[in-house]
Amino acid sequence: MKIAVLPGDGIGPEIVAEAVKVMKALGLSMDLNEAPIGGAGYRAKGHPLPEETLSLAKASDAILFGAVGDFSLDTLPRELRPEQAILGLRKALNLFANFRPALVYPELVHASTLKPEVVAGLDILIIRELTGDIYFGQPRGIRTLENGEREGFDTMRYSESEIRRVAHVGFQAARKRGKRLCSVDKANVLDTMQLWREVVIEVGKDYPDVELSHQYVDNAAMQLLKNPKQFDVIVTGNLFGDILSDEASMLTGSIGMLPSASLNEKNFGLYEPIHGSAPDIAGKNIANPLATILSVAMMLRYTFNQGDVADHIEVAVKKVLAQGYRTGDIQEPGAKVVGTREMGDAVVAAL
Ligand code: NAD
Repeated sequence: MKIAVLPGDGIGPEIVAEAVKVMKALGLSMDLNEAPIGGAGYRAKGHPLPEETLSLAKASDAILFGAVGDFSLDTLPRELRPEQAILGLRKALNLFANFRPALVYPELVHASTLKPEVVAGLDILIIRELTGDIYFGQPRGIRTLENGEREGFDTMRYSESEIRRVAHVGFQAARKRGKRLCSVDKANVLDTMQLWREVVIEVGKDYPDVELSHQYVDNAAMQLLKNPKQFDVIVTGNLFGDILSDEASMLTGSIGMLPSASLNEKNFGLYEPIHGSAPDIAGKNIANPLATILSVAMMLRYTFNQGDVADHIEVAVKKVLAQGYRTGDIQEPGAKVVGTREMGDAVVAAL
């Protein structure tokens, strides 16, 4: 298991240190190599994604990523800003499938803004296509029309093979869970999405054991708030997935708890918490490291096929929550409020 450890900026180094502590406690043979990225990459090597960091990532089986973002570098030209590092990694490593679970722990059910009965027991997975769609389609731009008015335009496009490969990922993920896949599109209005639906149905013939359903994106946005527990796995395009995965993460109400994965065809993966570098709380030992620790569980499950070890980590996290340990972001009356390092220690102890 060759893993590139890229802590990044803000709280990145603090939360990644706790995840590394957990990895070491597993007793597995892991080759961990750290490199700077984001603002840290710019400060060390003059670029947010230094060549050495990219080479290390390419020579590894997986990446454990903290977060990038440093407001003091926001005046740099766009290509040198910290956030470009993550886009560069996605592109260079062809990370086309983004996995975003949204899970509500019984102990944190009150962190959600939704009624407990709507979210209690929620466990859904959104798979967002990450390298195609209107975000990358050409032509795009802002042009001046003959009447002198400016017009902005972008192009939504998906090739059959792009849809096919993410559909396979969706069906395979559903197979490992509740065996239900909902494909979200806008086939009633957009030709690209008509093709999306046709291809997903074709791919579904290879997975007769997985129940396939379809929803239009506007309905899916409503259903996620009305009855989110109806879903098991959702697969969708880049634009719709961007919005729906953020909506779904907020069902849980706790940004410090949610891991994510971005995978390519060889199951190489970049694993990271969904939150950013949180500069407002950096260096104070108060950030919640659990999203990063849970990202390690996803890494073991999806890149290294070690579902049983992943289960151990997830059970350990549930155990520390049940024991009443909370970082500041998820604190409640009566809880044992602990710092970043102490939360990492508690997970190791529970393991
Ligand atoms: P953010 O996710 O960093 O923080 C939002 C709020 O949530 C803040 O109040 C923060 O303190 C809190 N928070 C986030 N993670 C937490 C944790 N683990 N424990 C406790 N509280 C936590 O979003 P932002 O403030 O909009 O952005 C800060 C920087 O992060 C920006 O530079 C942004 O571009 C960058 N960013 C990076 C990524 C990434 O690396 N993938 C993602 C989002 C934002």
